[in-house]
Amino acid sequence: MPASPVCPCGRLGASRKPLAFAQCCGRYLDDFAASPAPDAEALMRSRYSAFVRERADYLLATWHASQRPPSIDFDPGVKWLGLEVRQHRELDVTHAEVEFVARQKSPGSPAGAPARA
Ligand SMILES: [Zn+2]
Repeated sequence: MPASPVCPCGRLGASRKPLAFAQCCGRYLDDFAASPAPDAEALMRSRYSAFVRERADYLLATWHASQRPPSIDFDPGVKWLGLEVRQHRELDVTHAEVEFVARQKSPGSPAGAPARA
C-alpha cells in the first residue's frame, strides 16, 4: 500500500498522526469551488499548503480581492520548513483570528560561490 503524502501544513489527526494531504488541505485545494475551507484555520493552512505545492490558482482564488496580486511568482529557491499555528480565536460566526508563523528558507549566496553575470 503506498503511503499517502503527508499534508505540508502538518495538521494532526485524531490519532495525533499527521493527516494525509488528501484528507487535509488537498480537499480544499483540489475543489475549492465546491468545498471551500470551512474556517479560518483551515483556510490559512490550505493557503500554506498551496504555497508549498505552488498552487497559484488556489492562492489567487482565496486571496482577498483588495490585496490580491495579479499573479504569483514562486521563488524556486524557497524551502518551506513548516507551519506553526500559534493561536486560533473565534471572534464571531464570520470572523476569526489566526496567528501563525510560516517558516521558510531562501537561499542566500554562500560565501565563495562563483559570481554569475
Ligand atoms: Zn493541511
